[in-house]
Amino acid sequence: MNVYDGERMAEMLEAGGYAAAAEGADADLVILNTCHIREKAAEKVYSDIGRLKREDGSRPTIAVAGCVAQAEGAEIARRAPSVDVVVGPQAYHRLPDLIARAERGEKAIDLDMPLDSKFGALPKRAGGQRPTAFLTVQEGCDKFCTYCVVPYTRGAETSRPFADLIAEARALVAGGVREITLLGQNVNAWDGEDERGRAIGLDGLIRELAKEDGLERIRYTTSHPNDMTDGLIAAHGEVDKLMPFLHLPVQAGSDRILAAMNRSHSVESYLRVIERVRAARPDIAISGDFIVGFPGESEADFEATLAIVRATQYAMAYSFKYSRRPGTPAATMDGQVEEAVMNDRLQRLQALLNEQQQAFNERTVGRTTRLLLERRGKHDGQLIGKSPWLQSVHVAAPGLAIGDMVEVRVTSAGPNSLGAEPLMEEVA
Ligand code: SAM
Ligand code: SF4
Repeated sequence: MNVYDGERMAEMLEAGGYAAAAEGADADLVILNTCHIREKAAEKVYSDIGRLKREDGSRPTIAVAGCVAQAEGAEIARRAPSVDVVVGPQAYHRLPDLIARAERGEKAIDLDMPLDSKFGALPKRAGGQRPTAFLTVQEGCDKFCTYCVVPYTRGAETSRPFADLIAEARALVAGGVREITLLGQNVNAWDGEDERGRAIGLDGLIRELAKEDGLERIRYTTSHPNDMTDGLIAAHGEVDKLMPFLHLPVQAGSDRILAAMNRSHSVESYLRVIERVRAARPDIAISGDFIVGFPGESEADFEATLAIVRATQYAMAYSFKYSRRPGTPAATMDGQVEEAVMNDRLQRLQALLNEQQQAFNERTVGRTTRLLLERRGKHDGQLIGKSPWLQSVHVAAPGLAIGDMVEVRVTSAGPNSLGAEPLMEEVA
């Protein structure tokens, strides 16, 4: 979502006469778009600010945007006096005005969460140089997991209107985009009304988008297990353009820890969703998020996390050490887990997840599939594309270009990417 927000900020500034600079310190203006989800991500902003000083002692105008800005507010400008603008994730459409105020010598701080969505105030999208694009459909979260800052920094759950999303998707496709990833903190909580006023969920939006000529692939992320509706599960079996990939975080494999996390789903209900999704789309790749070392997590609880990983068989996953976030309920819970124990658990979990990822990749060897070519590889004539299952695939394809779809046979598998040979030229 920060990538999407960063693109929208850049497009807005370009419309106002700015152009992208090659290096941070050479720029007239630098926006640091920040993440507050874990402490390490939040601290990074201060070291980045330090690096923006030029050799002659001058510096660019510096804006801090995103969730660190929202959470720390004026404290950022106190800790780092070179910061001129602090703007939260729901107010960045006001950047031109904030920058103008900073240029007049003010500290411009805007942490508003206005009722009128920023999206209406941003310039219309035009598509870009890439064949893939993100599209934020839903923001914020009402789930209040006890470890998480998102409900505080991004605000309440809101869905963007259907008509706006169709219009933005059409603009992206007209600009050459062939794959759209729908984004939201809980993307599958999206709801709205279609053009006839009927209430629809994310599956309805996906079905409508699938009718757009020129749009070849649809993905969505990140989903909450409790919002996997029957309709969305069915769409995986029925909508060809919906890619066979589901990122469905579970966080932990012990019901006791899931309850302390306020996840509002159980191990069994999660596994049941996975089973139903696989029944609808047997080849679907499942991905997840995990937190090790949540307060009170015992060795037995952690082993239950390993057990749910074994039961699910992931194609890929993200795993993190629990990070204590000020202001969240878990930050003051008893039983905070020692760093050394967290390190050990993370290593054991990642070893298992890596094994599963390698095994998943190996199972695709010998298969024929379609790639959307996204970027150049290191070697001459080599291009890198994504498989339907979101794997990066290297293919020697002189004569093909970024944005082409190509039919390939997968020939080799590594832990993080695959190799393939083209079967025919552009097929779409
Ligand atoms: N809404 C999504 C969900 O509930 O699955 C996740 C959104 S969150 C931005 C992405 C991931 O960051 C979470 O799934 C969780 O694994 C991780 N995360 C959030 N807060 C964390 C914390 N305090 N410490 C470690 N990891 C955290
Ligand atoms: Fe954070 Fe996701 Fe839980 Fe919302 S559902 S509080 S975004 S982890």
